[in-house]
Amino acid sequence: MSDMGLVIVGAAGRMGQTLIRTVHTMDGLRVAAAVERPGSSFLGRDAGELAGIGTINVSITDDPLAAFAKADGVLDFTSPDSSVEFAGYAAQAQIVHVIGTTGLAPEHEAKIRAAAHHATIVKSGNMSLGVNLLAVLVEKAARALEASDFDIEVLEMHHRHKVDAPSGTALLLGEAAAKGREIALAERSVRVRDGHTGPREEGTIGFATLRGGSVVGEHSVILAGSGERITLSHQAEDRGIFAHGAAKAALWAHGRKPGLYSMLDVLGLN
Ligand code: NAP
Repeated sequence: MSDMGLVIVGAAGRMGQTLIRTVHTMDGLRVAAAVERPGSSFLGRDAGELAGIGTINVSITDDPLAAFAKADGVLDFTSPDSSVEFAGYAAQAQIVHVIGTTGLAPEHEAKIRAAAHHATIVKSGNMSLGVNLLAVLVEKAARALEASDFDIEVLEMHHRHKVDAPSGTALLLGEAAAKGREIALAERSVRVRDGHTGPREEGTIGFATLRGGSVVGEHSVILAGSGERITLSHQAEDRGIFAHGAAKAALWAHGRKPGLYSMLDVLGLN
């Protein structure tokens, strides 16, 4: 079988460049095209050179439709509006779309669900094996430890350039805790605390966000009881773990029927 051809959208970004390096070196995959926005100063440049691996004979283009038509799949770590647009194109081309973009609002999620009738979409706020395993452990811990005894707080830190908060991973871990507790996260989460907040409301899931420096991603889920505390945590040291997970997701999705899948499906943890 020939290699699966992947389009890297947002090719000049932090994740885009990491994806180019990863896909280029992975068996069974090739970089079919690399896309940036119209007007980008990177258009026409070789994607491999930009990513620091030398020429790969793929010039960065601003025409996603033409790129998708010739490819088997798309790796997308861009922005919520862009990911919705790309999901529509992936549905037209009936190909695989791996979405790592975070900060999606409910209206973005709904449009992506609709596109998944025709595209095979794998979407996750974190593509690493470690965080997805952590989510399984968090769900178990939240189920085992009752809300009357243990409070759940999610703490995260990321680099100074990150634009959304809480991180997609923090929300993924919060969802796992909510699933374990059999509650709806949207109704029970406390995303910010400021001023005179009053005492903590039992059964809520709290979030705290730190930003600074070059931190790739650190997450802790704290289960705090009276007299003891359990902390489940993950440190990402290199963006390569997300790129590797996304590439694995594309290979897993290749040939699968259209639908909306998660990394838990890819990793067999569901
Ligand atoms: P970044 O460095 O800003 O890269 C995003 C790139 O996408 C930029 O080059 C941007 O160009 C480009 N882009 C945006 N819209 C586009 C469009 N319509 N067409 C072509 N290119 C477009 O950001 P990053 O750090 O790589 O992160 C990107 C996203 O991935 C964020 O949402 C982040 O939270 C998420 N992320 C997810 C995971 C995971 O495992 N799920 C891991 C890491 C990061 P402009 O600068 O011109 O807008």
